[in-house]
Amino acid sequence: MEFDTIAAISTPSGEGAIAIVRISGDAALAIADKMYKGKARLADVDTHTIHYGHIENPETQATIEEVMISVLRAPKTFTREDVVEINCHGGLVSVNKILDLVLSQGARLAEPGEFTKRAFLNGRIDLSQAEGVMDLIRAKTDRAMNVAMKQLEGRLSERIRRLRQQLLETVANVEVNIDYPEYDDAETITLDRLSERAADVRHEIDNLLATARQGKILREGLATAIIGRPNVGKSSLMNSLVHENKAIVTEVPGTTRDVLEEYVNIRGVPLRLIDTAGIRETEDIVEKIGVERSRQVLDEAELILLVINSAEELKKEDEALFQAIQGMNAVIILNKTDLDPEVEMDKIYELAEGRPVIQASLLQDEGIDELENSISQLFFEEGVETADLSYLSNARHIGLLSQAKRSIDDALEAAEMEVPVDMIQIDITRAWEQLGEIVGENVNESLIDQLFSQFCLGK
Ligand code: GDP
Ligand code: ZN
Repeated sequence: MEFDTIAAISTPSGEGAIAIVRISGDAALAIADKMYKGKARLADVDTHTIHYGHIENPETQATIEEVMISVLRAPKTFTREDVVEINCHGGLVSVNKILDLVLSQGARLAEPGEFTKRAFLNGRIDLSQAEGVMDLIRAKTDRAMNVAMKQLEGRLSERIRRLRQQLLETVANVEVNIDYPEYDDAETITLDRLSERAADVRHEIDNLLATARQGKILREGLATAIIGRPNVGKSSLMNSLVHENKAIVTEVPGTTRDVLEEYVNIRGVPLRLIDTAGIRETEDIVEKIGVERSRQVLDEAELILLVINSAEELKKEDEALFQAIQGMNAVIILNKTDLDPEVEMDKIYELAEGRPVIQASLLQDEGIDELENSISQLFFEEGVETADLSYLSNARHIGLLSQAKRSIDDALEAAEMEVPVDMIQIDITRAWEQLGEIVGENVNESLIDQLFSQFCLGK
C-alpha cells in the first residue's frame, strides 16, 4: 500500500524534557535530510541507528536545535514504513518549529491515531490491536493500561480467532455431511452435535461479554456519586479520596456550566466522581441543586457513596436517600465515629440491605482504607475472573459480539425446530463474519473458501 508521509509531535504536549517529532512514510528520510546537519546523510546511514546533529532551516540556514535523530527503515518499524524520529530537548517552542519545518518540506500533519492506523493498514497489527493502542493512550489507571496492553498483545484477537475456528469446524462437518454423505471417515454430525458445538461458542461469547462491563469501567471510569445530608462529610470524603489518589480533573465541554469530573484511582478501579462541582459549590446536593438534578445524578451513577452522620440520629432525609438508592451499587459510610454514637446501627444495617457499611472518621483519616477495599471488591469480585485481563473495552467489539451471539441463538433455535442444516449454516456463517469484523479480517472472504483452504476434504 502507498501512503503520503505524515508527521506529528509524538510526546505529550508541555511535558518531559525531551520532545520527539515522528515522521513516517516513503519521504521521511528525504524530508529529514533537507534540514539535518550532521556527519552523514540520513539516507546513507544504517537502519535502527541514532545520529547527533543540528536542525537547520533550509531557506535561511538558521540553526534551530541540537538533536538526536533515529533512523528506522521499513519494514521493521511500528508503521512498517520508513520512520524518522527527531529527538530534541528544547521546549514546546522548538519542537513546534521543527514540526513546522518538516511540514513545510512535504510531510502532512498526522491525524490523531494515524500512525496506529497505518500499522493496521500495513498489516503490522490487527484491528483489535490497533484499538488496544488507542485505549492505551487514553488508559486512566494502571489496571486499564494492563487491559489495553493485553489487547495490544492480541489476547482478544486470539480468543476471537479460536471461536471463529470452532465455528468453521462446525460448518465443515455440516459440509461434509451435505456434500459427501457417503464419506464415512468424516464425523457424522447430527443436529445435536451441531447444537452442542454452537452452544460452546455461545458460552464463550457470553464469558467475553461478561468482562465487557469491567472493560468499559476501566476505560471510562465508574460513575460515582457522593450523596448525603448537609454537613455529614461529603466534601471531606471527596477530599480524602482525591488527595490520597491523585485525581485527574477534566473539564467536560459542551455543558452549560463547567461540570468538573474527577477521576480517582481506587486500587486500580478508576472512579469518575460525578457532580463534584455540586458538592464543592453548593454544599447541599439535595437542596440547592434540586430534586430533579439529584435524580439525574443518581440515574447516571453506577456507584453511590452514601454518607451518614453517626453522631446524630437517623433523619427522614437519610431514610429518603436510602429509598432513592434501593437496588443500586452502594457503600454506606458512617462518618464521625470519633464522636459519641447516636445512630441506630440495626436500622442502618437493615436499610443497607447487605451492602457494605463502613465506619469512618474522615476528620481523623480513618476508614478510607476499608472503603477502598470494599469498592475494589465490589468491582473485581463480582463473579468475574480477575486473572484474565483480556477485558473487552470497546463498544464496537461489544456490539459485534452481541450480534454474533444473536446469530448463534438463531442457529440454536433453528436446530431445535429441526430446520435443514444448510439453513442453520447461514446463521453460523453470519456469526463467523461478525466475529471476523472484530479483528478486522476481510469481511467479504467467503467462509467456504476458507473452509476449503483449511480442510482437505479430498475428492
Ligand atoms: P458536607 O456538607 O456533607 O460536604 O460535609 P463536610 O465535609 O463539609 O463536613 C461538615 C463538617 O463536619 C465540617 O466541619 C467537617 O470538619 C466535619 N467533619 C467531617 N468529617 C468529620 C468526622 O469524621 N468527625 C468529626 N468530628 N467531624 C467531621
Ligand atoms: Zn461539603
